[in-house]
Formats: sequence, structure tokens, C-alpha cells
Amino acid sequence: SDLSHIRNFSIIAHIDHGKSTLADRFIQVCGGLTDREMAEQVLDSMDLERERGITIKAQSVTLDYKARDGKVYQLNFIDTPGHVDFSYEVSRSLYACEGALLVVDAGQGVEAQSVANCYTAIEQGLEVLPVLNKMDLPQAEPDRVIQEIEEIIGLEAHDAVRASAKSGLGIEDILEQLIERIPPPEGDLEADLQALIIDSWFDNYLGVVSLVRVRQGTLNKGDKILIKSTGRQHVVDRLGIFNPKMTDKTVLKAGEVGFICASIKEIRGAPVGDTITLATTPDVPMVPGFQKVKPQVYAGLFPVSADDYGDFRDALDKLSLNDASLFYEPESSDALGFGFRCGFLGMLHMEIVQERLEREYDLDLITTAPTVVYEIMKTDGEVVMVDNPSKLPAINNIEEFREPIVHATILVPQEHVGNVITLCVEKRGVQKDMQFTGGQVSLVYELPMAEIVMDFFDRLKSASRGFASLDFAFDRFEASNLTRLDILVNGDRVDALAVIMHRDHVQRRGRLLCEKMKELIPRQQFDVAVQAAIGNQVVARTTVKALRKNVTAKCYGGDVSRKKKLLQRQKEGKKRMKQVGSVSIPQDAFLAILKVD
Ligand code: GDP
Ligand code: MG
Repeated sequence: SDLSHIRNFSIIAHIDHGKSTLADRFIQVCGGLTDREMAEQVLDSMDLERERGITIKAQSVTLDYKARDGKVYQLNFIDTPGHVDFSYEVSRSLYACEGALLVVDAGQGVEAQSVANCYTAIEQGLEVLPVLNKMDLPQAEPDRVIQEIEEIIGLEAHDAVRASAKSGLGIEDILEQLIERIPPPEGDLEADLQALIIDSWFDNYLGVVSLVRVRQGTLNKGDKILIKSTGRQHVVDRLGIFNPKMTDKTVLKAGEVGFICASIKEIRGAPVGDTITLATTPDVPMVPGFQKVKPQVYAGLFPVSADDYGDFRDALDKLSLNDASLFYEPESSDALGFGFRCGFLGMLHMEIVQERLEREYDLDLITTAPTVVYEIMKTDGEVVMVDNPSKLPAINNIEEFREPIVHATILVPQEHVGNVITLCVEKRGVQKDMQFTGGQVSLVYELPMAEIVMDFFDRLKSASRGFASLDFAFDRFEASNLTRLDILVNGDRVDALAVIMHRDHVQRRGRLLCEKMKELIPRQQFDVAVQAAIGNQVVARTTVKALRKNVTAKCYGGDVSRKKKLLQRQKEGKKRMKQVGSVSIPQDAFLAILKVD
């Protein structure tokens, strides 16, 4: 009945500052594994992960640590669930923790996501311990970085542990500090069971597996539980912890984190953020404050082969269980047939989801250009939200076009600040603040989300030699001079190619878009006219000239292996092509707008 030996914590960091490497070191120190065993152990469970399609190491690890005071502590390290590095996602795992380690690369210093993730943790009432990582690197500047942590984030950092997740320096010091400063969980063991679902995923053998944090009471194998939101009852047939392998236990107590399986077969049976109690205590309240995240970017995903539609829907069902931020609903396109409109947290999320669908579920998909959500006031006064350019009301019926504006914070070394400001201006940004700290400048801008989600990040990196970092969040909708640009292929409007853009950009981007299309659409047996138009007004046009001779003809009678290679390449190319009318359009052409400035 004593929780004083338990510590629940997360690691937060800007990408590449060493979160995963540090987690490996903790497993090694606590598991008492040698380097070689470590490699073998971890790989074993990784194989299991792949076989079973579950991500064990990414969810939570329970470790026993024998501290310098002679006592053994139970450390529950909860990693950010899902594969997404966005700050929104971090808050999910923080709900199960009392503390967080803020890992900062001592060579790079504080970056935008260090700040954003740290604030999320502080807002949720967590104790945050800064740690300086990569102290083995010659370019480490601990004093400068401590100053940055204190001045940019406002977190006391003079006694931050100086560590190297690579060499092992300071790892035990971090664990000691963590035990001393992060409070143990609270929770009445005698109270009625209340457990929070932090993450759920579908396992082909076990059904739905959920990672839970027990807030109060105890959960035993064999208990009949009640899932609050569905009102359904299930018997717990397995529970346990990851250490890091899936290890069965008979009980999970208040303050602890572990997995449960309750033969839940339907995928929506145990949603992330839901509360579990016992069937005998249905009045236990939901755990409050767990926010759902909203998608920011939408795109259409269509199976290349219409036969795959059913498999595609099943794959989305399964994936969305593990990734609560993924939104989808059926969409049909004149050009692309039946598919799904999907909502993502950002472009990285979109790429990851598409890749997982293709790799883990063996699907070939065509993605349309991503778009943000617009608020449209129609001439009859009705306000509608539009996440698909082809579903816009007719231009004549639009009174006002409103676009999402984000509040963005950019951290950049002083010598690159000029370039970054130029970029922000080009992207229609409005400067709100500029602060100098050490060698860093902190810029605050308001920018249209549409400009920022596309290629802004890459542009920012190249404008700053890779040194600038960015964090942003939706602020509001604002009226803007936008319009819809249609693409016509041989005179036919292709709904899946429509885009929404600022009127100031229409001439130039329309022309560049046609040029890009011309490069990307392969030559056919006939001329293909590509036009960009607003309503009936054509703003740009190009022609993809007909093939003059048959390319494969060259091959006949030639070297067999070369012929095979060519046929193979043609096959691969076809996989990601969609027949629109009489023209084959490749995946890249649907995303051409992303390559146009
Ligand atoms: P994450 O994105 O925060 O999870 O970062 P990773 O743990 O994947 O580390 C990013 C890169 O930094 C990898 O190439 C690591 O090998 C490297 N790295 C991590 N910790 C250290 C360290 O203490 N010293 C050095 N030199 N490299 C490190
Ligand atoms: Mg990592």
C-alpha cells in the first residue's frame, strides 16, 4: 500500500537530441544487461514487435533500479505513443506521469520543440528535470545551453546533469536526480478501480491490447471490467508490464502502468483516453482533461486498384486505433474513384501514415495534395468548413474565404535571422515579437497555416543552414483573398487536382504548376493539354507532346536483362499511376503543388 518506490516519467526532447538513445541506456543500467545482451535483448523484442505488429519499446517500460540509498525503485518510463513527433501527441503520455526529463543536446542548445514539449509538461503539472546530453561531443557548450534553458524556457538548470547517452556518462546521476525530485504517484489502493487508457493497438493474436495507468484501486487478472465510453463489459484475460518484453503479472495497482488484454475484438472497443473501472462500480467517473487532438491537414487517399478498397478501410480502422489523431471518412472522386478523406496533424504525420499503410498493410495508394481547413461564409450567410478544394461551394456563392492562422515561434542563431525574416515575409507572415538570448533569436510570427504546412520547414532549414527550429499552433480563422484553382487535363476538370490558394499567387503558381505537370505526366500516344483555371478563366496552359516513337521498341532483340529491368521499372511506375479519362497520371503529379513556390 506504499507507492513511494514508484516513479512514472517521460522523456521529452527536440528531435535527435537523444531521447531514444537515453531510453536504451536506462534499460541497460536497470536491466543489468551487458552491451551484447542488450543488443540481443532489444533486437529480440523488436523482432516480436514486427511479427506481431506492435511497438513494445515505444509504449512503456517498467524497470527496477537499485538506487544509491540501497532501495529498489520501480521506474515506469512512458515513451510518446505512436510514431509521431508532434508536440500534441506528447501530452497523451504525460497524463500517465508525474515527471519528465527534458533532454537538450549540449551542442545544439534549446530548440523550438524543447520549449513546446516542456510547456506541455509544465501545464499538466509535471516536475521537469533538464538534462544536458551529448557532452562527449567537442562542440558541447553546457554553460551556454544552461543559460538558454533558463532564459528561453524559464526552467532552473544550474544543476542539470551533464550526460552522454552515447558514452554512458551521467546516466545513474540522472536516475538518482529523478528519484529525488519527481514525486511518487498518488492513488488510493483501496478505492474503486479507475484506470486511464494511454494507448491501444490491435494485435492479431491477442485482439486489442491497451496500455493503462491505474489511477486508483487495483486491477486483477480475471476481473470483469467496464469500458466507460462504450458501456461494454469484458473479462481481463491477461495483464502485465513491458520490461521491455511483454511480461505477465496478476495485478496492476494504483500508480502503476501496464498492459491489459480483455478479448476485445472490435477495434473501437478500447479507445485512447477512455476510462476503465470494474463492472461492479459503474459510477466511477471518467478521468478528466484528456484532450482529443484535431487534424490540421487533410488529403484524399485512394487505392490504386479499386479491389483494394475493403482492405484499405480495414487498414485505416486498425491504424487509427493506434493513432487516435488520424481522422478518416469515405470520399469519392470523379477522377480517382472511392477512397478516404484523411486528416493528419501535419505533413510528417501524413507521410508516416501513408508509409505505414503501404508497408504494414501492403497497399498501393495515391495521395492528393494536402490542404488545411477553410471556413467559408456563403452569400446566404451560412458558414461551412471545407477540407477539400473540390467540395467548395461555387465561387459566386462565396461571400468570404477565411483561412487558418498559426502562431509560430522560431528559434534561430543571430547570423541567420535576416534570411528567416525574408522567408516569413514571403509566406505572408506578420511579425509579433523578436527577442535576443545568448546567440539565439526568438521570433514570433503569425502565418497562414496553408503556407507553413507545405514546404516551410524545409525552406526554414535551408535559410538557416539547418539551425532554425519551429513550433506552431492554430490561433484563429481570418478573412483572406483566396480562390480555387482548377486543373484541366484535355479539357476535363480533374477534381482531385484542385487547389486553394491566395489570389496574389494564382498567376505565378498556376504557370509553375502547369510546367511541373508537363514534367511529371508521362508522354502518351496523343497530345495532352494541361490548363490551370479559375472558374472559366484559364490562367496558364501547357501541352505534353505525344510520344514520337515507342520507347520499348529499342529493347526488342536487345539484352534480356536490360529488357527485364525496363519492364520492371514500367511495372513499378504503373503501380502509382491512375487512369484519369484517357490519360495516366502519376502520383507525383497529384502532389505537384508542393513543389511550386
Ligand atoms: P531522438 O530523436 O531524441 O530519439 O534521438 P536519438 O536517440 O535517436 O539520437 C539521435 C542521434 O544522436 C543518433 O545518431 C544518436 O546516436 C546520437 N546521440 C544520442 N545521444 C548521444 C550522445 O550522448 N552523444 C553523441 N555523440 N551522440 C548521441
Ligand atoms: Mg527517437
